[in-house]
Amino acid sequence: MVLDIKNLKLEQKTLYQPPLNEIAEVLNNGLKKNFSTVQVEVVDCPDLTQQPFTLACKGLGGKTSLLEIGGPPYLLPLVNRNKVYELNQIPAALGLDPAFIIGAGAGPFPHAGVNCEGMMNLCICKNKTLNQTRIAKVNAEDPSKHILETLPESETRCALLANLFCSNGQPGKVLKVHCKKRTGNDDFIAAIRTTLMEFYKEKIVGLGGTFLLKEGKAKQHVMPDFSKTPITSDQGVNDWLKFYNMSAPLIAVGTLVTGETELDLRVQHFHSFSHHGEGGHYHIDTTPETVEYLGYFNLGEIVYRLDRPEGGHKIGRD
Ligand code: ZN
Repeated sequence: MVLDIKNLKLEQKTLYQPPLNEIAEVLNNGLKKNFSTVQVEVVDCPDLTQQPFTLACKGLGGKTSLLEIGGPPYLLPLVNRNKVYELNQIPAALGLDPAFIIGAGAGPFPHAGVNCEGMMNLCICKNKTLNQTRIAKVNAEDPSKHILETLPESETRCALLANLFCSNGQPGKVLKVHCKKRTGNDDFIAAIRTTLMEFYKEKIVGLGGTFLLKEGKAKQHVMPDFSKTPITSDQGVNDWLKFYNMSAPLIAVGTLVTGETELDLRVQHFHSFSHHGEGGHYHIDTTPETVEYLGYFNLGEIVYRLDRPEGGHKIGRD
């Protein structure tokens, strides 16, 4: 039970790629509105397979793209259970080998038995796959708790929606964004996104990668099983989701883009996992005084839009 990506609509748009040095300067200035300590620089990507990031590939370089699959209209008002995608088909669809795929999406409910969050993190080289994707689901016995699991090597599906950063996983120059003590109202990603949006205006810039919540705690949600009654508003979504206050260190993966464009893009989406059993959809830190973020991001050359919902609504994008 999986859709064949070859048969799905795949749209694309070239993203604007300013020099990394220019972005670093823009962020160094703009992020000060939101954080008391800000340091943004262009560096060689550290080996992301090592602590503290522990991702499936070393770098964020080579044939970079953002890939948005499906969308909330496949989840709400009621789930469309046909929307299951095989990420193993992505490298062929995008002409990417090796393929490093990281990001936020709905996990494979046919595997989990219930709806779940997915922290996609896999490296596909020829026919060999290193899959370190996690899923998070609500604990059915005690919904005040949640469960984080690593998927089996062969389980490379996602469902309904996803925002992924794809590359060859090669080393190379990336943006290092280090911020401490939040003084504004924006979360880490929204602060980056709005700063870039204000500077680049109608030129659409897309970034993807990873960040570490190094100190502090974050408000994150985990989706419970699919609602049996239709969810028709953002309030309805918030009443349905389960929210948790999760502790550092949290390793987040995902994408941001400075405009929705004609492809109806989700402008930011990061999920995080940990090595202490917590993980979910990142909203914002809950400890502004002590919070510390360390991120590594690269620019997407292209944004791909796979299986965009027709006549979709705007609910459930927060
Ligand atoms: Zn999410």
